[in-house]
Amino acid sequence: ASSPFGRLNVGNSFAGLPGDFYTALPTQPLVRPRLLHANPQVAHMLGLSPADLSSPGFLDVVAGNHPLPGGIALAAVYSGHQFGVWAGQLGDGRAHLLGEIITDQGPFELQLKGSGMTPYSRRGDGRAVVRSSVREYLAAEAMAGLGIPTTRSLALVVADDPIYRETVETAAVVTRVSPSFVRFGSFEHWANHPDHLKTLLEYVVQRFYPQCAQASPDDDDLGGANPLQNMALKFLGEVVRRSARLVADWQTVGFCHGVMNTDNMSVLGLTLDYGPYGFMDAFQVNHICNHTDTHGRYAWNVQPSVMNWNLYRLASALTGLDIEPDALKAQLQEFEPAFLQTYQANLVRKFGLTHWDEDTDAQLVDDWWRLLHTQSADFTLSFRYLAQAPQDPARFLSLFTQPDAARAWLAQYAARLAADDQSPEARVARMNAANPLYVLRNHLAQQAIDAALRDDATEIETLLMLLQDPFTERPGFEAYAAPAPDWARGLAVSCSS
Ligand code: AMP
Ligand code: MG
Ligand code: MG
Repeated sequence: ASSPFGRLNVGNSFAGLPGDFYTALPTQPLVRPRLLHANPQVAHMLGLSPADLSSPGFLDVVAGNHPLPGGIALAAVYSGHQFGVWAGQLGDGRAHLLGEIITDQGPFELQLKGSGMTPYSRRGDGRAVVRSSVREYLAAEAMAGLGIPTTRSLALVVADDPIYRETVETAAVVTRVSPSFVRFGSFEHWANHPDHLKTLLEYVVQRFYPQCAQASPDDDDLGGANPLQNMALKFLGEVVRRSARLVADWQTVGFCHGVMNTDNMSVLGLTLDYGPYGFMDAFQVNHICNHTDTHGRYAWNVQPSVMNWNLYRLASALTGLDIEPDALKAQLQEFEPAFLQTYQANLVRKFGLTHWDEDTDAQLVDDWWRLLHTQSADFTLSFRYLAQAPQDPARFLSLFTQPDAARAWLAQYAARLAADDQSPEARVARMNAANPLYVLRNHLAQQAIDAALRDDATEIETLLMLLQDPFTERPGFEAYAAPAPDWARGLAVSCSS
């Protein structure tokens, strides 16, 4: 069948890097692949119409059963620190980069996940199962709907191949879309290979951070010994700031990544590699979403410091260009102010304030988190229902088992609001545009998985409709806004599925 991808402008810039950066190899076909879902929003970004998505030539490509016309399929190599320990070489063990679609908005790489073994598969089978694939497919779109930087989801394919995990499961492939899938670990891989480090840096900077290649009068202050080092320092500063803003965004929607290993950290500051992630239901500051993370290395409250630690690993890789450690450290210092700026700006919007008041607001926020933690209140609904609470507190108070403590905090909040010159109507409107009503709760993802296993995509369709605009209340979908039911409290998610 002719492929709608054939009409698009396909490039292969990553394949233009030296061969050491990847292994070119075809994807492994699936048995009886079916397109469970395709995402018209992302298709549109690429220049595909809704009609294109039902063509057999589309399915062939996103199943990995046919090559992308004009593309060079490859698996990229990278290394990384996993759970704080140097893991050495990793790489795309079950993913293939197909090539990139060049659009007016820039290049978008297409990557299949679950598309078969590669030289980097180690002991894995190169495949992915339905449950993890549905979760990744939905999470990326939920994140985009929240306005948080992320890779995107184009298509979700299921097939008949049996996949052996704890039980026999069903194979699935997600097509992910991103300007780039380069990770901190891609740089770490070449830390002791200055030529390749320079090549990778130039590739990333030229495509995504062109401003870092520009000489400026301030370059003398950077502490680099030559233009290459200055470029590396400016690049690091950009990644530090983007990553700080990203993790601040995660914190304020209650998102836990689950596996913040350096091989899962995008150098573009995008949320990447959705595995055992979780959007918190009942708030616990030290919530751990990944069942295998027994020590809580990636608990919610430590995500910012782990991101900072990961950036030190990226900086450390850049010492391979002979850059003075102090010059790298100066860029790393950008983390805290960038994090706080976004964190506070997000909270200002979420609490419906007009500005961050240094004298009162840190305490107000601290007391808020303590209130939610002590009573295991629902993260999403606590914020969402707060908007109406000053006028009509009943619904908000119903989220708390000890409403007196919540009432006391509300009094503090009302006093703070009185200091702002703003009508209640304007405040409520701003808060409802900042506090989502719908998030991808684990039990909702689980319902979509259960249906997907019957080749039924209606739950995926419903969730995407709600999550692509999670701030707008939809009559008839009250169940999707509700806290987790009792059966879902024990849902466990873990790595590599
Ligand atoms: P992750 O924990 O999903 O970020 O994966 C860490 C590393 O393990 C990456 O190099 C993956 O490509 C690889 N990996 C995970 N699952 C599989 C699998 N089923 N087959 C081959 N490689 C895998
Ligand atoms: Mg090669
Ligand atoms: Mg990964």
